[in-house]
Amino acid sequence: MINTNEVLKKYGLRLTKTLGQNFLTDINIIKKIVAAGEVCPSDLVVEIGPGIGSMTAEIAARAGKVIAVEIDRHLIPALEENLASFPNVEIINGDIMEVDLESLTKGWTGPLKVISNLPYYITTPVVMMLLEGNVAWDTLVLMVQKEVAQRMAAEPSTRDYGALTVAVKYYSEPKLAFTVSRNCFIPKPDVDSAVVKLKKRVLAGSADVDKEFFFKVVRASFGQRRKTLLNSLGSQPFVQGGKERLREALSRLGISENVRAEELSIHDFLNLTKELSRTAE
Ligand code: SAM
Repeated sequence: MINTNEVLKKYGLRLTKTLGQNFLTDINIIKKIVAAGEVCPSDLVVEIGPGIGSMTAEIAARAGKVIAVEIDRHLIPALEENLASFPNVEIINGDIMEVDLESLTKGWTGPLKVISNLPYYITTPVVMMLLEGNVAWDTLVLMVQKEVAQRMAAEPSTRDYGALTVAVKYYSEPKLAFTVSRNCFIPKPDVDSAVVKLKKRVLAGSADVDKEFFFKVVRASFGQRRKTLLNSLGSQPFVQGGKERLREALSRLGISENVRAEELSIHDFLNLTKELSRTAE
């Protein structure tokens, strides 16, 4: 295991809060994250933000290949030295939102996995980029802020269930793997973390609905989540026929007209979108 304090000292590194640099120092947690990814020699693993390579080394010992994308050029010499004994690691100095992951990972015939202790400041954009983009991943194992993990894996009729949950469930089967105390990092962050595992899936019934319209419905429904769906979604200009049309659609689906967005499962949203598409443009 890489000794974080020693490496920071040796290279004269100062960690940057704005880049979300909280490094994992607990080898058991690192091993648990890698185990959650069920990494094996047929896998190509993309690691977002390898830092000084503590988790990269554990991944590289199990994967066929690792592409580690680190934005901070100051960390690259330490990263290179710490990973020198792993010829299957490719280090890219760049911003994960800007590198061309599709071409970097093209040609790999086995499963593609993304494993990351994500920098908090960029969690949602990275997750949405992976969910909506064209990179053919099979599994994501992401450490994020505990509250975000709970929102990603929430069930209907809970406080955490919302538009992010529905987006995650549209593309994947999410599972909250385990929580991680803030004491496992240097420096110690202000919040606890959790690891979520997302398995890619094609949602049954999703091929029958227009994806853009579906997400318009979902966003508007949760936009004012305290209101009933009739009042939040029914007042949207893109719902032709307004509340009356929505009332009919709900009744056809056997859903109460007093329902709130958080009570609807992803399949309810799919069915509702189908009903509303009949009059939508
Ligand atoms: N993987 C290491 C670990 O677990 O100890 C470091 C994790 S630390 C929470 C996040 C890492 O992501 C930092 O090394 C940071 O420099 C890097 N990072 C931040 N923004 C990034 C971006 N846009 N693209 C790539 N790496 C980024």
